[in-house]
Amino acid sequence: MSDQPYEIVIGLEVHVQLRTRTKLFCRCSTEFGQPANTQTCPVCTGQPGSLPVMNRDAFQLSMKTALALNCQIPEFTRWDRKQYYYPDLPKGYQISQYDLPMSCDGWLEICETQGESSEKRIGIIRAHLEEDAGKSMHDEASGRADSRIDLNRTGTPLLEIVSEPDLRSAAEARAYLDELKLLLQYLDVSDCNMQEGSLRVDANVNLHLDEPSGLIATPIVEIKNLNSFRAVERALEYESRRQYEVWLEQGVKKGDIPKQTRGWDDQLEVTRAQRHKEESSDYRYFPDPDLVPVVVTPDEVERVRRSVGELPAALRSRLQAEYGVSEYDANVIVNQGRDFVAYFVEVADASGDAKRTSNWIQQEILRRMNELQISIRQFPVDAVDLASLIQAIATGQLDSSRGRDVFGRMFEQGEAVTDAMQSLGIVNVDEGSLRSLCEDLLAENPRVVAEVKEGKEKAVGALIGQAKRLNPNVNPSEVRAVCLELISQQ
Ligand code: ZN
Ligand code: MN
Repeated sequence: MSDQPYEIVIGLEVHVQLRTRTKLFCRCSTEFGQPANTQTCPVCTGQPGSLPVMNRDAFQLSMKTALALNCQIPEFTRWDRKQYYYPDLPKGYQISQYDLPMSCDGWLEICETQGESSEKRIGIIRAHLEEDAGKSMHDEASGRADSRIDLNRTGTPLLEIVSEPDLRSAAEARAYLDELKLLLQYLDVSDCNMQEGSLRVDANVNLHLDEPSGLIATPIVEIKNLNSFRAVERALEYESRRQYEVWLEQGVKKGDIPKQTRGWDDQLEVTRAQRHKEESSDYRYFPDPDLVPVVVTPDEVERVRRSVGELPAALRSRLQAEYGVSEYDANVIVNQGRDFVAYFVEVADASGDAKRTSNWIQQEILRRMNELQISIRQFPVDAVDLASLIQAIATGQLDSSRGRDVFGRMFEQGEAVTDAMQSLGIVNVDEGSLRSLCEDLLAENPRVVAEVKEGKEKAVGALIGQAKRLNPNVNPSEVRAVCLELISQQ
């Protein structure tokens, strides 16, 4: 399996900013990019006498996500204060969930396609809801070592999704993040914008070494400051090598080794020690006396469950089972998102030719979408028009190279299939002219005729290019059929 002398053990914590209009415990707007400190109130800035009230919308988006991650939803969940001091945390504590999270014990199936594709279930320990902190901005460029605080983000709802340490390589961690992000996009619970901090990843990693003296585990390191999925992969690769080198040099010291936090330096591509990792006792968690616990009824869980919709894994199987597309093609289509799947299904249903639809969508549609950086919603050829083009090709009205010309017109001029065919001067060649064209060709190419008579039917292919030059509207498969028929009558 692996040629490394150790096994990498990875667990990921993902913080997802939920797509709510207002914050978790007050009515301030969550809109990104507004002037600093314009979206605050006594509640989210922790003024004395203000009281938080839970945003039920945020709770339901969390529940929807947790259900899609196959989690259990306890009937009773509550809020805890996590105490720590930081300038961007005006209350001196974060409202979070400690021993009674809103969901637990789930899993996410990932597909790791490096080498042989294989499915694997990654356990989800819990997903809990909490509030975000503000932002500290360190302005070193001004030369004044100025630091300012923006509290607009303070109190924005975050769902923290904690995986089991089930991941065994950087590539698996990447596959997990890709699948989780896709799931969140299908659920429409977050915009998943990493640049704006809507999706933040911390990685816990250590090594298991199978030594003669028994199984040895290196101390767990939490890596922070990972601002892209690529950074996560690189940091995990770097950190596992580093831990192995440290182990070779020093071995594993007996006794208490505190967890360490290391920061990823994206420029130098190294992790650097930051501080010893807090134990949860350092945070002095206790139930928040200002908030009532949340009671969830089975009815509410069922209502939210019904809103989940069809998810990527189910869609991949359905495209394979109902439309006969390959596993690879199903992946490509589903990974483009819900709108793209809907487009595929509409074209495949209307044209009655799923295989051709899948090819067209991957070759012509995706290529143009990437070139123009547009989404399928902005695509100028709608599903019904593409379906009629595919039908025209499937019934032999158009061959595929003429089909691509027609598609080009539809795409650039916004014409429907018949108009595009007319603009290109494509008309059906009637049977009489097709026959006489073929007769001329055979008369001019006695060698081809002889070869076909010797049983080399393929030789007729040499005539198709000539036929197309004489009349671009002829259909290659019809030319082939008529020529073979004429030769057999000679
Ligand atoms: Zn507020
Ligand atoms: Mn957290």
